[in-house]
Amino acid sequence: MTQKVLVLPGDGIGKEIVAEAVKVINVLKADHGLDLELTYGDIGGAAYDADGHPYPPATQKLAKEADAILLGAVGGYQYDDLPRDVRPERGLLGIRADLELFSNLRPAILMEELADASSLKAEVVAGLDIMIVRELTGGIYFGEPRGIRVLNEGTDKEEKQGYNTLVYKESEIERIAHSAFKIAMKRDKRLCSVGKANVLEVMELWAEVVERVGKEYPEVELSHMYVDNAAMQLVKEPKQFDVMVTGNMFGDILSDAAAMLTGSIGMLPSASLDKNGKGMYEPIHGSAPDIAGKNIANPLATITSVSMMLKYSLGKSELADKIDAAVKSVIQQGMRTADIYVEGVAGTTLVSTSEIGDAVVVALQN
Ligand code: NAD
Repeated sequence: MTQKVLVLPGDGIGKEIVAEAVKVINVLKADHGLDLELTYGDIGGAAYDADGHPYPPATQKLAKEADAILLGAVGGYQYDDLPRDVRPERGLLGIRADLELFSNLRPAILMEELADASSLKAEVVAGLDIMIVRELTGGIYFGEPRGIRVLNEGTDKEEKQGYNTLVYKESEIERIAHSAFKIAMKRDKRLCSVGKANVLEVMELWAEVVERVGKEYPEVELSHMYVDNAAMQLVKEPKQFDVMVTGNMFGDILSDAAAMLTGSIGMLPSASLDKNGKGMYEPIHGSAPDIAGKNIANPLATITSVSMMLKYSLGKSELADKIDAAVKSVIQQGMRTADIYVEGVAGTTLVSTSEIGDAVVVALQN
């Protein structure tokens, strides 16, 4: 049966990098029997420009009909002064909430050939392969009550107070725990749950529920770590981790730190999944307005987002492996976009967005 993928290029470099990923999809369709129908829609600033809303009803309809979604990036300086509820980033939050994409998978992988691009010593990070599973639709970013209120109004002690609420229900913890255990089963079968149970009751419940769910996955070795220690361990000895699972805010911070261990924001894909495995796939970086339209952005994170899509939503792991192998071979050939180019490293060449995309296509055809 033909599977449907909605393509949302978005803003800035989104259009350039998604174009390279679509080239890759087209080769898989032409040469490797992939039966996929692509539809296109707007999101973010592009959607605001066209429809006055960053996640318009037409995109919502297409998103609901699709088996998976490939997104470039959203955002741009020209939208910075818009009201908060129509800013491009609201489009992203909107689609995640609308499709209940609660499980965010962020791999931090560093190919040995790119270890020089990391700010850490090559031996600490070469060959790094961590998967961070972040809860994406709950926790403090969504918890109520929230706001800014005035205390002691009308007195000489008057001042404002900002407040947010960190809440998780058992059902929310259970579903993200299942998601993480299932991923651990496909990898090295080690899962580290990250929290702050020593201070926060909500994280005490988190640890208890993850422990309970873990009984259903006896092959997976489960450990628990406080978030401050996890941050320290990530930069000290990152290769100790296989899969990490954590809440929305802790995951936001730890996954960015893990990404930077690899030194290359343009190399890392991500997936956001619902309970049935339908997902949205996107590079972890933003719309990079500073380099948009110059044909210098790295499209490999978007191309490997297609690989994750084939693996986690479309049931085509063998094609995902082909993409990963093609990307690896292009890196081994020495091709580097500006973000991963280190001057003086022998055997490497600085190439453009479309040149590296074409090279992946050639590698797939061979
Ligand atoms: P950014 O990730 O867009 O850029 C950070 C730096 O990394 C820039 O110097 C940029 O040139 C570089 N960079 C990013 N992707 C690259 C790539 N593929 N190849 C080469 N270099 C790359 O983050 P920012 O500058 O903080 O944000 C820019 C806009 O993107 C903002 O509007 C922000 O809100 C938005 N944003 C969107 C997403 C998303 O769509 N998921 C994520 C983060 C930021």
